[in-house]
Amino acid sequence: MTDVAPIAPLARTPEEWAEALRPAGVRPFHARQVFRWVHARSVVDPEAMSDLPKELRATLAPLGLAQSLQVADERRAADGTRKLLVRLRDGATVETVLIPGVTGSKGKLPSPVSAVHDDADAAAAVDDDDEAPGEGSEPIRVTQCISTQVGCAMGCVFCASGVAGLKRQMGADEIVGQVIAGRARLEEGERLTNVVLMGMGEPLHNYAATVRALRLLTHPEGLGLSARRITVSTSGLVPEIARLGEDFAGNIGLAISLHAADDETRSRLMPINKKYPLGVLMAALRAYPLPRRRRITIEYTLVSGENDLPQEAKKLGRLLRGLPVKVNLIPMNPIAASPLGPPDMGRVLAFQRVLCDAGYSCFIRRRRGDDVGAACGQLALLGAKAKVRTVKRAPQPDGKTGR
Ligand code: SAH
Ligand code: SF4
Repeated sequence: MTDVAPIAPLARTPEEWAEALRPAGVRPFHARQVFRWVHARSVVDPEAMSDLPKELRATLAPLGLAQSLQVADERRAADGTRKLLVRLRDGATVETVLIPGVTGSKGKLPSPVSAVHDDADAAAAVDDDDEAPGEGSEPIRVTQCISTQVGCAMGCVFCASGVAGLKRQMGADEIVGQVIAGRARLEEGERLTNVVLMGMGEPLHNYAATVRALRLLTHPEGLGLSARRITVSTSGLVPEIARLGEDFAGNIGLAISLHAADDETRSRLMPINKKYPLGVLMAALRAYPLPRRRRITIEYTLVSGENDLPQEAKKLGRLLRGLPVKVNLIPMNPIAASPLGPPDMGRVLAFQRVLCDAGYSCFIRRRRGDDVGAACGQLALLGAKAKVRTVKRAPQPDGKTGR
């Protein structure tokens, strides 16, 4: 045993369940079953764990497994997006969002354009770009966006969480608790296929808890999500990007919140840039052990008058040259705490045109779930079918396509 704080029950691995329950005389086999009930089946009520011995269910009862995943509110948007307000142990609340995607022939059909995309990264899977329409009654694929901190310390000027500041870190149990609660609320025909860490907070500023949550989500005896179906979005914490690359051999999808192509603009929008300027950030991206055919997602929130000019798009194109990326442009979602706002659509399209002409896959993301307030800053880019899509251009004469 180590001298660190005890691991919360929902965050235990099967081995840790076995160790924790051994003093109560529970056999390792039964302890592993508890893990499976929680993580593979999203069942946290011991009484519902029907194949466990009665005494074990009684042992589990006082643990209060459901405490990190009380859903205080649930709202559904017209587009099927569901926002859950999760109340944590201490009463703090965070949001998680379920985003149903397109499905096979029994559901909404993907647009012909989306079907030709061959993205293999999890972020793209959010948009079903990597799935051709299937045969028969396929499940409706759901992406869940989860939070990793209550608030955020990074202070990005266009972000509600950043303006509010960091309230506290979330435990791994609270991070996975959102997924357990989300899965328990899936509707008939739906299946959770992707998880994106794009909710409240900076995941890499809560590294240990985030990594434990990723290990639980990918555990073969639990939900068993493939790492490539999980995307971590970060404002660019360079040492932790390297650690994440090492810890998961590059298999976790990476989304980088760039938002500017020069240090002056980026530092103005995102204070973290003063600590890790673009030079070191780009070096970290080049060093990320990305598997073949995978791409890093570049998120670029367009803020009127701040970072939205065509020459800034050109600069961005130069900055990204040679990196395997796709670019998501997100017109800023207005927040109460700031006068900043999105550019008009003409500007957005002009920005996209420059990047497309430079050979990049570049998408404009529309907001989903606006009518239930799920379109708060971070969630702007989730699950959004691009309002405007362009098919990748042929390789440029110099052989570079931006991929
Ligand atoms: N902290 C991480 C993940 C959460 S934020 C990160 O910054 O990457 C997820 C995304 O939402 C980021 O790209 C962030 O820049 C963007 N975002 C935040 N506030 C926004 C807003 N008001 N409008 C549009 N995008 C916003
Ligand atoms: Fe934090 Fe991300 Fe918001 Fe920046 S954009 S303040 S890093 S949550």
